[in-house]
Amino acid sequence: MNLVRHPGSKLEVLSPDWHLPAGVSAMVTTRKGGVSQSGYGSLNLGTHVGDEPANVRRNRDRLRRWLPDAVTIQWLKQVHGTKVARSRQRRLAPGFRLGVYTADACSVTQPNIAATVLTADCLPVLFAAEDGQQVAAAHAGWRGLLAGVLEETVLTFKRSPASITCWLGPAIGPCHFEVGGEVRAAFLAFEQARARDPEPVAACFRLTRESPTAKYLMDIYAVARLRLHYAGVKTVSGGNFCTVCDREYWFSYRRDGAVSGRMASLIYCSNS
Ligand SMILES: [Zn+2]
Repeated sequence: MNLVRHPGSKLEVLSPDWHLPAGVSAMVTTRKGGVSQSGYGSLNLGTHVGDEPANVRRNRDRLRRWLPDAVTIQWLKQVHGTKVARSRQRRLAPGFRLGVYTADACSVTQPNIAATVLTADCLPVLFAAEDGQQVAAAHAGWRGLLAGVLEETVLTFKRSPASITCWLGPAIGPCHFEVGGEVRAAFLAFEQARARDPEPVAACFRLTRESPTAKYLMDIYAVARLRLHYAGVKTVSGGNFCTVCDREYWFSYRRDGAVSGRMASLIYCSNS
């Protein structure tokens, strides 16, 4: 993992192993560098998880200061759906926010607005157009992934999907993501409804317990790559993490239960 620290900041931030278009920046926060306590320790950025609001505000301030002055973070209220927050305005005044959206992805064409999603176990996916003129971030737990949040995000791009590059951030890995047979069945049914061969998606689930209550280990990265491939995206990197395995750097809801913080995955362009 390529972790970055700035002089004067306590934050340790992951720099993605991703070939980004010129003028585009991306990062994922880790647990390191905040003021929150216990399971929220220390850099919890979620306001909805029971953490002390004053601590979350301080953590969010630290992240804001870590970024260049011109950059505004666009926070979302995430609901495991497929709605993509976006703005069609060509130019926004410095410091302007798109408003707090109830959405699970954010797609921006304006420079210096950081499309941002919060996760702990769910998969953060970052998107960039090859020309650096549009970026997006999506939050994909299995429900959002199944319902099509990645495809919806691809559809917001002005360029063809083939000119989008994607990166898969830290999520629960195939070593730990146990799901019931009904989750696998839903992904297979999605493929069948589109007259696609269900075999590639079936291969993303490994049986760990036989019926009557079958359990599978799901490779959420492999499912995301497949769905992005069907959506026309040719370049996808990242995806070699497990939030449950790496307690030092990542929050994990599966591992720690209700007292668990959230990481932020951000992407923004500075091109105008
Ligand atoms: Zn694991």
